[in-house]
Amino acid sequence: MRIILLGPPGAGKGTQAAGIVEKYNIPHISTGDIFRKNIKEGTDLGKKAKEYMDQGLLVPDELTVGLVTDRITQKDCEKGFMLDGFPRNVSQAEQLDTFLKEANIELTNVINIEVDKSILVSRAVGRRICKSCGATYHIEFNAPQNEGICNVCQGELYQRADDNEETVSKRIQVYLDETKPLADYYTKKGIISNINGEQSIDNVFKDIVAALGSEK
Ligand code: ADP
Ligand code: AMP
Repeated sequence: MRIILLGPPGAGKGTQAAGIVEKYNIPHISTGDIFRKNIKEGTDLGKKAKEYMDQGLLVPDELTVGLVTDRITQKDCEKGFMLDGFPRNVSQAEQLDTFLKEANIELTNVINIEVDKSILVSRAVGRRICKSCGATYHIEFNAPQNEGICNVCQGELYQRADDNEETVSKRIQVYLDETKPLADYYTKKGIISNINGEQSIDNVFKDIVAALGSEK
């Protein structure tokens, strides 16, 4: 299974990704996570990416596409993979297609999680993430049992630097301008499933599994 998870910031991609990669036993490739890891480690890529991420803008394609194509070439991706947060514009999608064609690899599914703009800001601003295991919570919609502490590993929860109202609003606008057109792009290829992301986390997951099928 070679899947792309598409959707606006706060749609629930990371939340659903956790269940999908467990069920289908494939690696989860999140460009946002890769950039945040680089920022934490203070690498050159992290320093460059941070300038854009802090403003809610897309990191330039030159810094992004190679990162993903290199990752897809690794051994664990032979059994399939799930891309989360990539591609983010038509140029990235075209470059990915060119790479996959040369590598003789075909995408199997694009899961497009749809959520109205009016809900997205509160989703992202209330998001909290575990510093240790990366599990995602929401202070209201998916609260941890103990405030500020991860249910899974007892790690400390933190708020992403770009999850403030101003940056989230910018990210949503960037999504509408640059990423949303990808829904048409993949509809034309006939591999997209549109999922109602305004249901409970469990029901969104059920719809995704129904779209992907239960076979690994
Ligand atoms: P994305 O990766 O698409 O930016 P996340 O998976 O991180 O989104 O979800 C954003 C926030 O919304 C998180 O705080 C998460 O707990 C919460 N969330 C995710 N799915 C739902 C849902 N179906 N209903 C309510 N809140 C949700
Ligand atoms: P995410 O974790 O997917 O919400 O992404 C957080 C931020 O990382 C985005 O606002 C962008 O600045 C950057 N980013 C993540 N993925 C990409 C991508 N495919 N192309 C460009 N920028 C990206």
